[in-house]
Amino acid sequence: MLIDSHAHLDSPRYTDDRAAMLTRAFEAGVGAVLAIGIGEKAAEMHKALDICRQFNGQPNMPRLFASAGVYPHNAPEIDEAVLAKLDSLLAEPEVIACGEIGLDYYHEGAAHPIQREGLIRQLEVAANRNRPILIHCRPKDGVTDAWDDLLEILEACWRPTGLGGIMHCFGGGWEQARRSLDLGFLISFAGNITYPKAQPLRDVAALIPLDSLLVETDAPWLAPAPQRGKRNEPAWVARAAATLAELKGAEAQEIAAATTKNFLRLFRLRADVGN
Ligand SMILES: [Zn+2]
Repeated sequence: MLIDSHAHLDSPRYTDDRAAMLTRAFEAGVGAVLAIGIGEKAAEMHKALDICRQFNGQPNMPRLFASAGVYPHNAPEIDEAVLAKLDSLLAEPEVIACGEIGLDYYHEGAAHPIQREGLIRQLEVAANRNRPILIHCRPKDGVTDAWDDLLEILEACWRPTGLGGIMHCFGGGWEQARRSLDLGFLISFAGNITYPKAQPLRDVAALIPLDSLLVETDAPWLAPAPQRGKRNEPAWVARAAATLAELKGAEAQEIAAATTKNFLRLFRLRADVGN
C-alpha cells in the first residue's frame, strides 16, 4: 500500500471524474490520500473535509484524510474569523494536519512580512489542536531566503510543541533537509523528483533516512515523467516511490512500507487505515 501524503482533491479539475479518479488510485494500490484543505482562497478550506465525508466508507476508494490551512499567498485573508474556522476544522477527526502553510517568495503575491505573520498565527492554532503541520516553502531562484526565514520561525515557535510535520514537495538542499530532520519533520517528494533536471534533488533524497521519507503527488500539479504537464492524480504516486527506490537501492515494496509507516507514526494513526 502507498499513501499519497499531499493531493488537492478539491481541485475543480476533478469535477467531472473525482470518483473515477479515486477508484483508479485504489486500483493502483493507494490505500490513503491526504486531501489538502486550502481551496483557492481561505473561505474554501473546508472543501477537503467535505470530500473526505463524501467518499469515505464507499467501496474501492482509498481512505481519505483532510488538512486545513491558509496558503502563503492567501495570508492577507487571515482574520479572527478565518482563524476560528481553521480551529474548528482542526477539531474534526478527519482533519489530521494544518496546511499547507509556509512561505513562498518565488511567486509574486502576499508581502513577506504578512506571510510570516500568517504562518505564526496558524502555528498557534495548530499547536492548540495538537495537529502536525504541512509546510510549503519556495525561495527565489538561486537563494535560500524563504528557507532561512521559515526554519528560523519553526525552530523558535514549532520545535517546542514536538508535533513535527511534513516538508511537502521538498525542493531544498541538504542544509535545509538536515535542519528539517532536526526539527522532527518528514520530507516528502513529489513527481518533480522524476524530472531529468532534478539530479541535485535526487542527490539530497538519497541522503535522507528511510524513516523520514514520504511520497506525494501534489495533484493536480507536478505530474511525474513521462506524463509531465498533464493533470496529475494520486494513482501516479508510485512514480515518486519508484525513483526513491532506485536512489536508495531498495525494492519498491520497502519504500511503500516505510513511507506508509512514517505517515501513520506522524499522525498517530492505526495500521489498518486503508479501506
Ligand atoms: Zn499543494
